[in-house]
Amino acid sequence: MVRTRFAPSPTGYLHIGGLRTALYAYLFAKKNGGKFILRIEDTDQNREVKGAVDVIISALDKAGIHYDEGPIVGGDYGPYVQSERKEIYLKYAKQLLESGDAYCCFCTKERLEELHSSGATKYDKHCLHLTKAEVEKRIASGEPYVIRQNIPLTGTHTYHDEVFGDVTVDYKDLEDNILIKSDGMPTYNFANVIDDHLMGITHCIRGVEYLMSTPKYNLLYDALGWQRPVYIHLQPIMRDASHKLSKRDGDAGFEDFLAKGFLPHAIVNYIALLGWNPKDNREKLSMDELIAAFSIEGLQKSSSIFDETKMRWLNSQYVKEMPLDEFHAAAKPFYDKYYPGKKIDYKYLSELLKTRVEILSDINEKAAFLNSFDHKADRPFDFDKFINKKWKTDEAMAKTLIDECIEATKGDADTLNERLEAVAVKHGLKKGQVLWIHRIALTGAEATPGGGAEMVKLFGLNEALARLEKVKACL
Ligand code: GLU
Repeated sequence: MVRTRFAPSPTGYLHIGGLRTALYAYLFAKKNGGKFILRIEDTDQNREVKGAVDVIISALDKAGIHYDEGPIVGGDYGPYVQSERKEIYLKYAKQLLESGDAYCCFCTKERLEELHSSGATKYDKHCLHLTKAEVEKRIASGEPYVIRQNIPLTGTHTYHDEVFGDVTVDYKDLEDNILIKSDGMPTYNFANVIDDHLMGITHCIRGVEYLMSTPKYNLLYDALGWQRPVYIHLQPIMRDASHKLSKRDGDAGFEDFLAKGFLPHAIVNYIALLGWNPKDNREKLSMDELIAAFSIEGLQKSSSIFDETKMRWLNSQYVKEMPLDEFHAAAKPFYDKYYPGKKIDYKYLSELLKTRVEILSDINEKAAFLNSFDHKADRPFDFDKFINKKWKTDEAMAKTLIDECIEATKGDADTLNERLEAVAVKHGLKKGQVLWIHRIALTGAEATPGGGAEMVKLFGLNEALARLEKVKACL
């Protein structure tokens, strides 16, 4: 059975690139009737951030990427958090020590620094030649040590990657990397191999930064007599031709995009297509469609550039087809934050905005008109707003028309436009001239989602008339 995994380190956020790795691993597993596993790689305890595992779990949940085994839900291969598996790694490290594929290293920080400053580019195998007795003695005396992998000095290693083809690495470019640190914790370089094997991972899907170190992992699989997984390395998502998307630049966190008002699935859909394509030009795919279409052959060898404008467009497609109730629920936090406590029909506002926003935070701008009319001010807004060159309107015209606009407003909002048109005819004006005056008087805003009739429905008749009367009193 196909088993894939997502193995994030708990950094406190879920990077868009990480989310895409998780997504591909999920899609591949589901496409093949397999299992998708979440494993937390927290062996670098210095980097750990409190609550970070919850952030990952909740982000995956919002993204609709459901893991079959992992923290909280458990599974037959747990624990799924590496810091809880310390003893397991030690057992295999001992096996590698016995076979000579690993060795204890007592070199101090000072010696390693000296080695480095003398021009060495990698560890010099200084401790490889210690006798067994000497190693035992030094361990017994409490001297700190690490366990290093014993990598051949010469020769090359070739393995197959499903995206990059055959990859060859010269052993001289690999270092005897640390497998177990002096605190007994494994490094990524060791733990990923042990866990991928013990968790039955068949396909290892991860970032391209591991492409050149994979030979080290293969040596470990071979030394332990284990079958290597199939490797699928992924190119990074770029901000532009030369920079990766990075959290530091504020453009990479999944949660950041959610806060900006992108819908979770629109993000997932968009990033699915950054590095993979379904080969039929489809751009909008549900999770089920992504699963059905996903294939390794569609993965790109080149990196892709993240285009927020494109993701906005895709998001707007999803917004348009959202049921009103759903849109309203998603919009509500934005109303609460930016326009709380207004005397309006918020549900109706959602109806007006649903076709006018691409992402939910567009609400901030599109609903700005809600703050344009100040009841308490001498003039509720700047009356220069009545001036419209196209419609040839100004404050004087407003004064002429306001009484009739008030009368027209009093009837049924659905037929308001007809009554305003009659006002225009009566004064020999264009309809637009009267509509403009009416809408400006009602809202104090040049841009509103909908015309005067919609604004009356939004505010309710009493409030609409109160606004018009206030304007009349100032003209
Ligand atoms: N913990 C590693 C990372 O966050 C995972 C790499 C892998 O998927 O093997 O980069």
